[in-house]
Amino acid sequence: MLLRTEGIVLKTHKYGEADLIVTYFTLQKGIIKAFAKSPRKTKSRFGSSMEPLTYSMISLWGKEQSMPKITQSDIISSFHNIRENLHDFINSSKLIEILLSLTPEGIPNKRLFSFLLNTLNLIASLEQKQKETFYLILQVHLLTLLGYAPRLKGCGKCGAKTLDFYPSLGTPLCGKCAVRPLVGKEPPVRITEGLINFYSHCLAWPVYILRRLKPRQDTIAELSFIIDKHLNHLLQKRLLTSEFLVRKGANHV
Ligand SMILES: [Zn+2]
Repeated sequence: MLLRTEGIVLKTHKYGEADLIVTYFTLQKGIIKAFAKSPRKTKSRFGSSMEPLTYSMISLWGKEQSMPKITQSDIISSFHNIRENLHDFINSSKLIEILLSLTPEGIPNKRLFSFLLNTLNLIASLEQKQKETFYLILQVHLLTLLGYAPRLKGCGKCGAKTLDFYPSLGTPLCGKCAVRPLVGKEPPVRITEGLINFYSHCLAWPVYILRRLKPRQDTIAELSFIIDKHLNHLLQKRLLTSEFLVRKGANHV
């Protein structure tokens, strides 16, 4: 099999003395792992094209079942400015961790690929002071694309008005519906109307327009807290949560 596709490096693992296993998000095959022979031996363009976040046109050769070998890799955009800024690198790594944790390998997803590429382009063009809010909104959009965005408006079971959000379930529940064992021992987080409104805007508008949103600082802090709590549950107890979300349709906000 010979495959030629655009790919973004999500992460790499050293293999032996000088080889690398590269995890890509490719346009044609989704997330795949590929083997690079000796890219660490020389400081070549081939080697530097395997830096995390690098966007390249790659050629892969190998059998469908085994890990393909990278035979060619031409950089389209290196995104080195993101890698060289610690704050940007940590935040984009978090997005990639979410992506890797919640996306099965080998399934093409053009919308997700475009989202990742647009995200990297936008991060590279933003001023530092705009970025804090933007990263948070990107997490929300990524979770939406993956089908795991929390619901914040109304009880996830009956739709009634409530401000009690359950991070482990990714949804608010009203007093009537919040029965054990569904909610466990964890108390709900009280959310505000301001957060619910801002979150609705986040979901409704495309990412590039969201740069213009100027939310209050306490709304951003509140959303950050909620998303982190939700992510903690999602990445550790993903199966339980996704089962709940599928059952209740709570991911359709
Ligand atoms: Zn309810």
